[in-house]
Formats: sequence, C-alpha cells, structure tokens
Amino acid sequence: MQLAKDLQPVLLELALADASKSQPRVRPEVQELQKLLDERTRLTEASASAQLAVDDMELEILRIQEDERKLKKRELDDKRQLGAETDPERRKDLEHDRYAAKSRIADLLSELKEAHNEIAALRNNRDVHAARVDDINRKVDAAQRTVDALPEEEVVDTDALRAKLPADVLDAYDDIGAAKFNGRACGGCFIQLPPAERAEVMAEPEDSLPHCPNCGTLLVRVTPSDEA
Ligand SMILES: [Zn+2]
Repeated sequence: MQLAKDLQPVLLELALADASKSQPRVRPEVQELQKLLDERTRLTEASASAQLAVDDMELEILRIQEDERKLKKRELDDKRQLGAETDPERRKDLEHDRYAAKSRIADLLSELKEAHNEIAALRNNRDVHAARVDDINRKVDAAQRTVDALPEEEVVDTDALRAKLPADVLDAYDDIGAAKFNGRACGGCFIQLPPAERAEVMAEPEDSLPHCPNCGTLLVRVTPSDEA
C-alpha cells in the first residue's frame, strides 16, 4: 500500500481517534472521583448504622427510666397504704410488694449505669464515623472541582482526516486497520517482531505502508526521532 510519508501521520491520527471512540478513555480525575464517591457511600452507611446504635440505646435508657419511675410510684403507694393498713395479711402483701419494687429499682439503676457507659462509647463511635464522612465529603468536593476544571476533551474531526487520505488507503484502512510500528512491536496486535521481520518492515520504501506479519494491519512506522 502506497502512502506519502507526510500523510502517514494523518492515517495514524485517524486510527487512534477511531480506537478511542470505540473505547472511550475514562480520565484519571474522573476515576478518582468515582472511587471517592463509592467510598463516601460506604462511609455514609457505616455512619448511619453508628447513629442507629446510639438511637436504640437512647430508647433503651428512656425505657429503663420510665420503668424506674413507675416502680418508685408503686413503692410510694405501698408505703402510704402500709401507714393506714392494720390487717396483717394485707400488710404482709404490701411489704412484700414494696420489697419487690425496691429490689427491681436497684436492678434498673445498675442497668442504667451500664447503659450510660455503653452510650458514651456508642456516641464516641458515631462521632468518629461522622468525622470520616465530613472528611470524605471534603475530598469528594475537591475531586469534583478538579473534574469540573478539566479542559474539554479535544474531539478529533475524523471526517477532516479522511478527506486528506486517498481512497485506496481509506478502503484498506477500513478493511484491516492501521497501527503504529515503533521499530519493535505492532501497535495493533502488540506483538514484538523478531529482528528479521523488523528489518523487512523497516526496509520497505518510506512512501509505503507495510503490513504487520502477525495481524496484517497497515503499519505506520514511527521511530523515536520522528516522535521527538
Ligand atoms: Zn500486528
């Protein structure tokens, strides 16, 4: 396949543009943002669970306090009734009930103490999680600003590139593709050519496009000095 050496970079640019269209590149800044957003989801869920544990324990404390209030009232009622009761059987019942209420109150107070210790630890844990969420939010905001500030990705006008190339080259390109040859490996199949094949490829006239011996694609020879 013949193609003037000065048009060969046009073919290569076309091939690279077509390749990036079929497999759009995700920019690293966008990847980083996505990673942070995933991390934020995870941390926000963990933070919500930590808050829920605090809420549950607060309800538990309210329940204990409510039970304690009722028992104290019962104990007072028993005491009041005992002051007026003379029947020995009734007195015995009231004393027994008063004793049971006092003993249950003592149990509740120890439950309450334990619950207060637990809620202190749970609130501490919740605060740690909340701080992590604040931290990831700041990172997400910064990453979002970075992404927003990225320059528009240059859209290559492939029609304009095609217009510069002869029809027979375009036909062959559409058929078998084109890739860079860096003197060692084909940019299409990424196979390193043995020295003899490299030499054959490099020996073709400069106004021609050799084929890759492996995949058959058109090779645009780009040596390091061309790229500089
Ligand atoms: Zn190849």
